[in-house]
Formats: sequence, C-alpha cells, structure tokens
Amino acid sequence: MISKANIENIKIAAGLIRDGKLVAFPTETVYGLGANGLDPLAVAKIFEVKQRPSFNPLILHISDIKELHSICSSIDDTVQILIDKFWPGPLTLVLEKKDIVPGIVSSGLDTVAVRMPDNDIALELIGNAGVPVAAPSANTFGMLSPTSPEHVEKQLGNKVDMILDGGSTKVGVESTIIQVINHVPVLLRPGGLPVEEIERLAGKVQIGIPMNEQPNSPGQLPFHYSPKVPLRFIDEVTQSDLLNKKTGALFFKKEIPGYDSASIKILSPSGDLRIAAANLFSLLHELENEMVDLIIVERIEEKGLGLAIMDRLKKASNKSH
Ligand code: AMP
Ligand code: MG
Repeated sequence: MISKANIENIKIAAGLIRDGKLVAFPTETVYGLGANGLDPLAVAKIFEVKQRPSFNPLILHISDIKELHSICSSIDDTVQILIDKFWPGPLTLVLEKKDIVPGIVSSGLDTVAVRMPDNDIALELIGNAGVPVAAPSANTFGMLSPTSPEHVEKQLGNKVDMILDGGSTKVGVESTIIQVINHVPVLLRPGGLPVEEIERLAGKVQIGIPMNEQPNSPGQLPFHYSPKVPLRFIDEVTQSDLLNKKTGALFFKKEIPGYDSASIKILSPSGDLRIAAANLFSLLHELENEMVDLIIVERIEEKGLGLAIMDRLKKASNKSH
C-alpha cells in the first residue's frame, strides 16, 4: 500500500512510527525501512522483515541537530565541521552513543551511526515522529536497494504498515560512512558523498581502520559487538569449564535446571523471537557488567529472527574457544 506523501499521510506515518510500526520512506539515497530508533521491539521488526541472517548496526535518522545531542555523547570539532557542511546529506557519522540508544540499533557497539537525510518527506516524517528513526534500506536480504516506492512494494508490500511515495530517489546509492578517530576522518563505507569533498574540509581521509589499531580502540570499531566474556552453548559446556567459575546464563524462555549460575537472564519468557532479539545485546551487556567469567547460552531454533540471534551467539562462542 503506497500512500501519497502529503502532510496528512506523513502525520499518519509519524504516528505509526511512534506506535512501534514500520514505515518505508524516501531519503535522497534509497528508500528506508523505518522504525522508532529508541524502541528495541520496533527495531527487531526491521530485522524480521528484512530476513537478514545476521544483525548489523543501523543508521539513526534525525531531522534536527538538537536530537543528535540526545543520542550521542561527544561531538568532536572535526565532526562538527562535517555536520555543518554536509547535513542534511548522504553522510553518516559514527559517534559515541548514549544509553538511550538500544543495543539492537548499534548491534551492541558503544557507537551509533547517525545522519540527517536531504529529503523533505523524510525530514517531515522524522520531525513529526519526534524520535530518531532507525532505517536500513527497505529491501529483503540480498536484494537490490529500492530507489522507488514500487521497488519497496514488490519486496516488502504486505510487511510494512505504510510506504510513503516520494518518487525516485536522487542519489541512488547509500550514504558515505565516516568515523572520526583521534581527529582523523576514517572512511568505513564509500557512498553518495565523495571522499574528496570531505578531505577539502577535514584533511586526509583514512580508508578503513588499520588492523594494528583495532584492538586498541575499544568501542570505536566497525566490528560487531561480541561479549568480552567467553561464551559457550550449554550442550558444549563441560564440568571443568564450570569449575571455580562465576557463570552467567542466558536462556530462551525459562531457566534450564542443572546450571549453578550466579546470574540468570531470560531472552523472552513468552518465547517470542522478536522480544528475544530486542533483549539480546542488552542482556549480554548486563552479564558482562556483572563480571561473570563465563556465559552459558541455550541454543535457539534457527528460524526467522532466531537465525540472526544464533549467528551473533555462534560468533561470540567461536571467539572464546
Ligand atoms: P545501511 O545499510 O545504509 O543502513 O547502513 C548500515 C551500515 O552502517 C552498517 O552495515 C555498517 O556498515 C555501518 N554502521 C552502522 N553503525 C555503525 C557503527 N556503530 N560502527 C561502524 N559502522 C556502522
Ligand atoms: Mg542495504
């Protein structure tokens, strides 16, 4: 259901966003699949609908610079220069996030990607919603990014609550992603804003983070988050693994007896994968903060969002073997 992007429909769309629903909307790059970026359950729906087999950090879209300060903690001078010059526009900045930004938006990282799109419909929608809007491209996994409302309808037609029609998008490629590290702009993804334009204002752009710097800059990496604590699936845990350890447990619906854990977390007592996905990163962080030595986890069925959840857990468990 494609809706004309008039003021009335934009207001309806904004209400849907506030209510935790999904709205596809035009930006100057491609059509985005938008949800309230402060509502973890709404963001989980994005992953469900996109059928992505893994989580990736999403971009928060804002319409007003004031909103930036509610979601990010420190704005470096170089970042400020880039914002002043290129926003609204196809430039995404990766910044230190505040706690208000749920883990499912940043894939558990301490940073969040933010941009202000250069499209009046997008800006009106975000402004009316009154919340930052998390939005990846409005396509299913592995398919082309949509540059028209018809592309969105073809792929996601009955899975979104509204598609706002803003015609064809201008830029047609994704935004350029920059993270400023120690005052140096680092290119995390090339996109609609040419690197040369950034260099004119902010000096030489480094292409990607050099391997040897990665372990030294925690929280600043383009990596996906993985808990610092070793993680094992319960069917792989041996008695010696548990010996003299303070363990934390992460179960799906309910506690599985037989594991003497100092802390027990349940992903979703009702067994809802969407709730489990919404809670995953925050529960892993909680266990980490409780200083456990080992996290034991229950496997969940790799269906729907279970696939992305298990992908994250498997990566974390491989790391710790
Ligand atoms: P898009 O596919 O246009 O929605 O952009 C999302 C992409 O932005 C992700 O796949 C990452 O490559 C990048 N990204 C988002 N957040 C972060 C972050 N906190 N750190 C590094 N890269 C990020
Ligand atoms: Mg995409």
